[in-house]
Amino acid sequence: MKSMHKTSGRAILIVILLLVVIPLVVLAVWRLEGQAPTIEKMPAEMVIGAVPRTIVVDIAERGRGLKAVQAAVTQTGREVVLEEARFDGSLLGPGSGVEAHTLTLEVDAGKLNLAEGQATLRITARDFSWRDWWNGNRTVVEIPLTVDVKPPSITVLSRFHYVNQGGSGLLVYRLNEACPRHGVMVGERFFPGYPAGKDDGLSMMAFFAVGHDQKPDTIIKARAVDQAGNETTAGFSYRIRAKRFRKDVLNISERFIEQKMRPLMEAAGETATEPQAIFLAVNREMRKKNYETLTRLSEKATPEITWEGVFMRLPQAANRAQFADHRDYKYRGKIIDRQVHLGADLASLQQAPVPAANGGTVVFTGDVGIYGNTVVVEHGFGLFSLYSHLSSIQANAGDRVAKGDIIGRTGVTGLAVGDHLHFGMMVHDTLVNPIEWWDAHWINDNITTKMKLIR
Ligand SMILES: [Zn+2]
Repeated sequence: MKSMHKTSGRAILIVILLLVVIPLVVLAVWRLEGQAPTIEKMPAEMVIGAVPRTIVVDIAERGRGLKAVQAAVTQTGREVVLEEARFDGSLLGPGSGVEAHTLTLEVDAGKLNLAEGQATLRITARDFSWRDWWNGNRTVVEIPLTVDVKPPSITVLSRFHYVNQGGSGLLVYRLNEACPRHGVMVGERFFPGYPAGKDDGLSMMAFFAVGHDQKPDTIIKARAVDQAGNETTAGFSYRIRAKRFRKDVLNISERFIEQKMRPLMEAAGETATEPQAIFLAVNREMRKKNYETLTRLSEKATPEITWEGVFMRLPQAANRAQFADHRDYKYRGKIIDRQVHLGADLASLQQAPVPAANGGTVVFTGDVGIYGNTVVVEHGFGLFSLYSHLSSIQANAGDRVAKGDIIGRTGVTGLAVGDHLHFGMMVHDTLVNPIEWWDAHWINDNITTKMKLIR
């Protein structure tokens, strides 16, 4: 009997061990998991200014679930809680099961009453682990904040900005601090500036342009946005001279539509069949797309001036069409479309060699719909020259070219009628009148003299 008691006592102990202690140990090990939550997508540091900044922080937890998260900003001992969240769950049960939480934080220096200077953004996350005496694993991430609520200042150095409608200009200015975005606003259009001086990197130059379609009362001003998002605009003296552009009526024949436009339309995968529909698919829709292909090249601007002196015009060439000629297209006695010609047409001998107008880097070669075979050269600071309707291209993207280097031959590709070169100049993403860039006096008065202020 005794031994039986002993045996049953031991058995009970074993049962208790199996049913209570082991599960408790397992639970404890399970609940003592040491994997702390992770805080992701955090910037290493932040500059905040007058404009509120939104940052999104992802918190992930692979263990028993999140218990609490908090975001707070501290400055000289003062703490402001931006956001806080607590999650329900039991310490004995499976925790909260919350594996992810996203904090969307609006950091507004004004609302938080932050002073110019340094502050800290702290994100804290805790989980349902039993670690740290049932407080849970804790992850803390601190990001240094630089509070900058002072807008940058712009000092305009260049004077007398006389800009033609459809023409170019140059602004020279100094910033008092590094700004990721600065340049010239012409109406709603923005022209970025680049560091240009041999100094501390705060002397800037920006080419800008007044579109042929912008009125003489368009507002032009300098603009800078600092790292904190504080913005400044500065006025300067300028005058926009009104230009009268030529008006032209082009008679369109069915033969032209069939021979020139239908192949272009079909190559683009369009399926219009009526002559007038083919005409509009090419002259209106394709033109728009081709134009965007060219103006998108403005992204390839580099902060290096690679040109010097007057831009070269196709030698011994007659001017066939001018910049901003307004063209009405007449088909069967009716005006069916109206477009503006955004370059100069120059006719020389057939398949005449085409020189690069100035030093630069070839940023594009290829077929651009109505423009046909095209070469685009960047000359630095967002100034580009364009060569279209070429019969052959003798350059490759990435090539460095000097003024006069042959980059192709004139032709009739695209919508050209008769062998000629369509030559364009582009400032950032606005096509401008090339005539100014062919004029040594204009370049000297409007560009070179201003560049000398800081170079
Ligand atoms: Zn043209």
